[in-house]
Amino acid sequence: MSDKVNILGVKVDKVNISEASDTIIKFIESGDKGRSVFTPNSEIIMMAYRDESFRDLLNSSDLLTADGIGVVYASRIVKNPIKERAPGYDIACVTLEKLSKKGGRVYLFGSKPGVAEKAGENITKKYPGIKIAGYSDGYFNEEKEQTIIENINRANPDLLFVCLGAPKQEKWISAHKSELNAGVCMGIGGSLDVFAGTVKRAPEFFTKHGIEWLYRLMKQPSRFVRMLDLPRFAMKVLLKGRKFSQE
Ligand code: UDP
Repeated sequence: MSDKVNILGVKVDKVNISEASDTIIKFIESGDKGRSVFTPNSEIIMMAYRDESFRDLLNSSDLLTADGIGVVYASRIVKNPIKERAPGYDIACVTLEKLSKKGGRVYLFGSKPGVAEKAGENITKKYPGIKIAGYSDGYFNEEKEQTIIENINRANPDLLFVCLGAPKQEKWISAHKSELNAGVCMGIGGSLDVFAGTVKRAPEFFTKHGIEWLYRLMKQPSRFVRMLDLPRFAMKVLLKGRKFSQE
């Protein structure tokens, strides 16, 4: 069996949280710049299913992990199973833990003004070896964007968290990674809000039973339209999943 599984055209790496973080540490140790890591869930795979250029963008990343339980179920349906989900926030935590022992440098980019600073405080409390190399909020115009890129490049981080939501963060990383003086660029959605404590993760009951989507919907009803893609994703995988998985 391949070490990737093709879900509706998106080639997801069959790694768990620990394997994903080991890969990220190896990328950092290699000294390469501009590696990209994305963590698609069912909604993002549906976006990629509809948009070939976004699909190519995801497939050209260096590591693609299954953020949601829907992607894990889909891998079982196409008979090339991923053992467990590897959400961006969890990979970020385990990677910070490992990087803390090496005095790694992390740049926090995204979320509303003030959130990255608070996230940085909490990260250094929990992972004292981590050096926060810089912050930028995620609301910018072209001029501010140039300043953000210059700040990142001056800060020279091992790890850059880009938290602009999907698909903005994936597109931003893909467009700028070649000019970034950053080891690994990870698109991890609302994770800075969670590090900052402004948003709570779903309680274990919801994640354990594969209904994290229900918790997020209750907390943020505006996600409803986006979430209509979840049953569509399930139908597409049931009807067409095997065909893609053999490509
Ligand atoms: N965000 C941002 N810039 C934008 C749009 C969104 O920094 O132009 C941030 C937003 O403040 C939030 C995160 O991106 O912190 C998106 O979180 P969400 O949970 O919606 O992520 P997703 O589920 O899309 O991965």
